[in-house]
Amino acid sequence: MSRLNEILEFNQKFVEDETYLSYETDKYPNKRMVIVTCMDTRLIELLPKAMNIKNGDAKIIKIAGALITEPYGSVMRSLLVAISLLNAEEVYIVGHHHCGMIGLHTEQIVEALALKGVSRENVDQLEKTEYVDLQNWLTGANSVEEAVKKSISMIQSHPLFPRSIPIHGLAIDPHTGKLDLLVDGQK
Ligand SMILES: [Zn+2]
Repeated sequence: MSRLNEILEFNQKFVEDETYLSYETDKYPNKRMVIVTCMDTRLIELLPKAMNIKNGDAKIIKIAGALITEPYGSVMRSLLVAISLLNAEEVYIVGHHHCGMIGLHTEQIVEALALKGVSRENVDQLEKTEYVDLQNWLTGANSVEEAVKKSISMIQSHPLFPRSIPIHGLAIDPHTGKLDLLVDGQK
């Protein structure tokens, strides 16, 4: 059975059994917070458990390295929606130790994509356009602290982001779930 079929079969039973009843909530975050964190698989359940976040408690935006790269991209837009229309009053940027985006360089991604059939010509053409600064865009950060602080500064310097909203920075251990406070946004 393919993964897709497996999911669809599971889902049918999930709904039939009314398993969803224990997850019922609304679209507003009960804890009035929005979290930006990494897409790392180790954090899927660990991060909410380690932060005592239950279904309905927070808006969670997941991106590689918790690194916000664009002031006018979809992550920044999601943050603005969360704080303007969905009652979020605090932002938590949660990077993590041993993140794949730490120390990542453009060439590593480009080489891996080449193995998936992406031609070098496409890469070369993109590098010539003004559309994207490929080297900058595909490069990660040097440390989790740097990644978290970059994202915080991206939000803080945004002209549409209210100054009254605290932005906290944390690093989570993907093994133990321990949180290290990097930036206390209340100060
Ligand atoms: Zn990561």
